[in-house]
Amino acid sequence: MNTLRNHEFWFVVGSQQMYGPEVLAHVRQHAAAMVAELSQSADIPSPLILKKTATTSEEILSIFREANSDPHCAGIVTWMHTFSPSKMWIAGLSINHKPLLHLHTQYNRDIPWSTIDMDYMNLNQSAHGDREHGFIMTRMKVARKVVVGHWQDPEVQKQIGSWMRAACAFADGQSKGTVRFGDNMREVAVTDGNKVSAQIQFGWSVNTYALGDLVQEIGSVTEAATKSLLEEYRELFTFSNDVAENPALMAQVKEQAHMELGIRSFLDSHNAGSFTTTFENLVGLNQLPGLAAQHLMLQGYGFGAEGDWKTAALVRAMKVMGEGLKGGTSFMEDYTYNLEPGNEMVLGAHMLEVCPSIARAKPVIEVHPLSIGNKGDPARLVFDTQTGPALTTTMLDLGSKFRLLVNEVESVALPYPMPKLPVARALWKPYPSFKGALKLWILAGGAHHTGFSTQVTVEMLEDYARTAGVEFIEIGKNTNEHELSASLEREFLSPA
Ligand code: MN
Repeated sequence: MNTLRNHEFWFVVGSQQMYGPEVLAHVRQHAAAMVAELSQSADIPSPLILKKTATTSEEILSIFREANSDPHCAGIVTWMHTFSPSKMWIAGLSINHKPLLHLHTQYNRDIPWSTIDMDYMNLNQSAHGDREHGFIMTRMKVARKVVVGHWQDPEVQKQIGSWMRAACAFADGQSKGTVRFGDNMREVAVTDGNKVSAQIQFGWSVNTYALGDLVQEIGSVTEAATKSLLEEYRELFTFSNDVAENPALMAQVKEQAHMELGIRSFLDSHNAGSFTTTFENLVGLNQLPGLAAQHLMLQGYGFGAEGDWKTAALVRAMKVMGEGLKGGTSFMEDYTYNLEPGNEMVLGAHMLEVCPSIARAKPVIEVHPLSIGNKGDPARLVFDTQTGPALTTTMLDLGSKFRLLVNEVESVALPYPMPKLPVARALWKPYPSFKGALKLWILAGGAHHTGFSTQVTVEMLEDYARTAGVEFIEIGKNTNEHELSASLEREFLSPA
């Protein structure tokens, strides 16, 4: 995956002709220095490109026109070095389709106390130019991220970087689709939703393909490709002794390698970044894709089990947001609880499909029967999850709107080994408290399927929700349980 470097962001500095060429030359110099330095920041993941200084209505309109038609441009950063009368921005902002970030900064960090004069004030007036700019965007109801502070401040750069990651995930979702092998698990509500609405809102193109098409693709996988993938498994994972010494079990691992290669070539030939499977639809496959789905997630593909296309597309978006950062991101399911007073925890896992990017140590390949689906014993990776700050998130289709719900959690170590549980697992304590978090999650309609991440931040997800124009609800350390539950319950009141 190289999604962040394959997109770019435009830096558009606003001014006006009234100041004359000398001031405009300074504006240009400063902007160029800022872009050069910001581009070197480890927190800025994508190229930042300085565009022509925006000084007239026509220039502004043409910048936005150009941005709209450039698929590499994933968003626009605006900043008013001087005053830039905002009626000039109406035409451009009216047609803009790219995510926006308004950087409220100024070139110099400190006031030059002993030398400041009116020329300095004339040139360095973001403090009022950016207010004019903010007004017109609010007046026009333009969604944007506002970042405030000196541009060299690491906190400011992190906030810009978070928004870039979210904007790239949004752009990726508009170009890469979701392939569904089979439909939803029968009768399940929360994993279903309106795919037309999702495409209008997020750009997600979600389509179902017959399993026979995949079976055919798997059938054309070559021995050489399978052999080289098994070599890769050997480098990345440990084979359990049972598997290594038993040819029948090794054959099941090989079967997963076949499936992985078939699914991957199917996804790539359909320009898809994510996929779903379902244990209710496996005719023609010898086993449910386990290890195959796990290793595909590790390579950046989104995944949702039981036909859960919303979580598949969300996991893909999170994979893009988290690209290159420490930690990992996986499909996850809230499975069972430890309700011991004072030590309440959620145990997350799935039948098989948890991404090894969140593994704490080298995952082990094991083969066990699956109690569901009546198929062969699938090979899977078994591991414990990295500990520390993490989050779970779910995308809900509530009929009248989408809701992105996030819970900040602390991933913790298993207090005891679980030798009889043959799947990858995560254990966590939700914030602000176990009971508070789960009450809010349930009231908000939160699903059992989630994207679980030790690398993506709450801020990135909030930036993503704003970019897509959907509701964002955070359940975290600073959440006021009473306030949030009251606001969620107000939605259930019927109008008088
Ligand atoms: Mn499930």
